[in-house]
Amino acid sequence: MSKEDKFKKVISHAKEYGFVFQSSEIYDGLSAVYDYGQNGTDLKNNIKDYWLKAMVQLNDNIVNIDSAILMHPKIWKASGHVDAFNDPLIDNKDSKKRYRADVLIEDYISKIDNKIQKEISKAKKKFGENFDKEQFVSTNSRILNYNNKISDINKVFSEALEKDDLKALKKLIEDLEIACPVSGSKNWTDVKQFNLMFGTKLGASAESAMDLYLRPETAQGIFVNFLNVQKTSRLKIPFGIAQIGKAFRNEIVARQFIFRMREFEQMEMQFFIKPGTQQEWYAKWKENRLAWHLSLGLGEDNYRFHDHDKLAHYADAACDIEFNFPFGFKELEGIHSRTDFDLTSHEKFSSKKIKYFDTLSNESFTPYVLETSIGLDRMFLAIFSKSLIEEKLEDGSSRTVLKFPKILAPKKVAVLPLLKKDGLPELSKQILEEFKWDYNCVYDEKDAIGRRYRRQDALGTPYCLTVDHQSLEDRTITIRDRDTMKQQRLTVQEVKNKIKTELDLKSWLTF
Ligand code: ATP
Repeated sequence: MSKEDKFKKVISHAKEYGFVFQSSEIYDGLSAVYDYGQNGTDLKNNIKDYWLKAMVQLNDNIVNIDSAILMHPKIWKASGHVDAFNDPLIDNKDSKKRYRADVLIEDYISKIDNKIQKEISKAKKKFGENFDKEQFVSTNSRILNYNNKISDINKVFSEALEKDDLKALKKLIEDLEIACPVSGSKNWTDVKQFNLMFGTKLGASAESAMDLYLRPETAQGIFVNFLNVQKTSRLKIPFGIAQIGKAFRNEIVARQFIFRMREFEQMEMQFFIKPGTQQEWYAKWKENRLAWHLSLGLGEDNYRFHDHDKLAHYADAACDIEFNFPFGFKELEGIHSRTDFDLTSHEKFSSKKIKYFDTLSNESFTPYVLETSIGLDRMFLAIFSKSLIEEKLEDGSSRTVLKFPKILAPKKVAVLPLLKKDGLPELSKQILEEFKWDYNCVYDEKDAIGRRYRRQDALGTPYCLTVDHQSLEDRTITIRDRDTMKQQRLTVQEVKNKIKTELDLKSWLTF
């Protein structure tokens, strides 16, 4: 299946099985805004929970808050968003399609990078166990050429971004002969800056209304509450404040399903530290966040770090954890060393003292901040797209299965009476009653059992419990594992123990 087909399959499966719907669909939809359906909402909540447990429950120096979406407009002046939260846009004059100039260039670079990856996997196949990747990459002439090309482009690209030189960005697009993917033409407009914040108004009358913004990130809600939380929690540095919440960005181009939305959710954590210790904490949080991702078992090869060449105005080091999405490696999470930029700036704009008093050294200082920021919807897409598998079976048939990490599956248990008679539905409902206190369960008695298994596979339910005539006699049931399709006859208690062991948070989150 081609990458495009795989991605289309992800989108259609998400809709067909109640995970993600286009917002306002009966009114022809609202671009880059999505609704989560009954199963998508469960999956999303489980991802939030997995993040929160790892971040807050397991760390006694990290707390969780929920700040408002609407905030005082000066906050966005102080944070730099009013002046600098821009993306460079460019239009193609023939297709009239709008693009982010930086993304056009990044996509061009990823195409070269894909060629490198292809060369590597070809060589890996050819040389088998003797393959030495490092040596191959440093000596193969084609790869060396590709890498030289990438570094030449990156040099011009980062210089243009650094200096906000929009003319240089356009020239680079022209020099690389980048064509519009829709019209195929290279007939581009000039590059312009575009602010991504959504404006809104607070107040009853037009004259007295105050101009506000919908927050473009959750982080500022944490910074402006730094003192409130520190004083009321009495936490000592180093400590963190976490938050999950909506953010809004008027994205120029939003054509990649829930990867780039105009309304989305972020899971952010700001870790307040002593100035001078930021390098150490940056390395620690990079390691910790990658370990969190790997704990889900989607495959180490699907993640990579990308260090930023161009740093945002607030950062002294930054990288992304990129994930291998159906359309290639793209940012999933950002890890940023934000220095004391935000707290210092809020101190200046609010004229309130925002300092931390260290009782050990008897001195006050502005803490430095290490941020981890992940998009919940992107995490959803990462998990959903990697879990969706078309599997050929031994008997020649095939099945569509969502092999979610079991801990995140929307429904954990499906209880299925083999037949809709002979007291099997009644016993099934008694068994459902025993499981529903601990797990999200479903009950399904429609259609033949094989079809019901397929339905649960397509929803990603890890355990199907089938109740048959023998169950009436000895209270044993059959547990079918989603991934192996193996069936085992066990007592209800044994099934409970098995599921409890397999979903034990400790075994997932110990890293
Ligand atoms: P990008 O370069 O893809 O626009 P960004 O660098 O602007 O992303 P950050 O400001 O670092 O993103 O935001 C932190 C995280 O929020 C990102 O890693 C991403 O997972 C998520 N995110 C950002 N913008 C969007 C969006 N429009 N839709 C969905 N998730 C988003």
